[in-house]
Amino acid sequence: MLKPISNSRTDFPILNREVNGHPLVYLDNGATTQKPQVVIDAISDYYSKFNSNVHRGNHSLSMQATVAHEESRKNVCSFINAASEREIIFTRGTTEAINLVAFSFGEGFVSHGDEIVVTQMEHHSNFVPWQLMCQRKGAHLRVVPIDKNGELDLSTFKLLLSERTKLVAVTHVSNALGTVNPLEEIIPLAHTAGAIVLVDGAQAVQHISHDVRAMDADFYAFSGHKIYGPTGIGVLYGKEKWLDRMPPYQSGGEMIDRVTLDKTTYNTLPFKFEAGTPNIEGSIGLAAAINYLAQFSPLEIQTHEEDLLDYGLERLKSIPGMIIYGNPKKRSSILSFSINEIQHFDMGTLLDLYGIAVRTGHHCTQPLMDALGIAGTVRASFGIYNTREDIDILVEGIMFVKKRLGK
Ligand code: PMP
Repeated sequence: MLKPISNSRTDFPILNREVNGHPLVYLDNGATTQKPQVVIDAISDYYSKFNSNVHRGNHSLSMQATVAHEESRKNVCSFINAASEREIIFTRGTTEAINLVAFSFGEGFVSHGDEIVVTQMEHHSNFVPWQLMCQRKGAHLRVVPIDKNGELDLSTFKLLLSERTKLVAVTHVSNALGTVNPLEEIIPLAHTAGAIVLVDGAQAVQHISHDVRAMDADFYAFSGHKIYGPTGIGVLYGKEKWLDRMPPYQSGGEMIDRVTLDKTTYNTLPFKFEAGTPNIEGSIGLAAAINYLAQFSPLEIQTHEEDLLDYGLERLKSIPGMIIYGNPKKRSSILSFSINEIQHFDMGTLLDLYGIAVRTGHHCTQPLMDALGIAGTVRASFGIYNTREDIDILVEGIMFVKKRLGK
């Protein structure tokens, strides 16, 4: 029996706290989500009942920890519908997952004069690693611009693809505008041009569909902490045919098969890419988060968050001086805005006095802010536990800030 979303709030202990004398209204889910008690308990259980290092141990605790860690990998594998657990690499987060591909794919497959295509709306984590890789390899970075609605300009994208394009790196959902990119068009276009595709799923897996095989992504990256799990754990999904042929990223324990004075051979997938002791509490916490989410209908999550977006847009638009950034056909869980003559930083600081947590600034998307001709925005981002009432309080808060600043 699926659990109704309306019952989710009580699962998150932090939502009971007050901030500056007001009940917390948490609208910073794009930065990180709150954790349900089951995730907190799973981590605490690991440390209080079977803490031990994984793999190679032949005592009970180690075997129990190994089973839990590898069960988590299976869990992630079915969550994103990967073909095999060998395609699931645990990383520190989305950033490390993308750096792994930029380094390792770059070393293995990118040569002088090749091209990498990124977009103007990427988070710095899906922009800087490619910029650096291009510098290292003498390759060229091509950037897909955005149009006035905050959507990718697909006709320019088509023109940028060439026989030199090795890889296209694109976000599934923009963390600054909420734009859902049409991967169903982008991925086949890239493949036809002979390029492979890395999708940054950091703002997508917790909100919309995340079937890596249906979308035919070559790589897909996401972070545990944005999907109601712990920080310090993330996932790189990669098609086995690529991971197999890519050289290791980091080296040391766990990733080796045999080390001699002369040379080292590597472990099988996924361990070839997991040097050192992994984040065991992280993988266990992530699996608990995935199990937690599985209690709800994905359709209900999507419908609920779409309702919050529609309601939020309608309410925010009624505020005099309001500017909403982006007007994409498909948007997910993020509203970016500013109010005439009020600095985004001041807005965030004053909303906090009302117990409202939003994010302000460039959201690690400076190339996008440059395209919009602004320094930053105020961003409200939603999770399963948010309600229309949270939006009403946000609107009241904005009116309070306007009054206080005489705007
Ligand atoms: N990509 C996107 C779209 C993001 O929103 C974020 C986090 N704000 C990242 C990448 C980086 O994620 P992490 O810091 O968890 O590695």
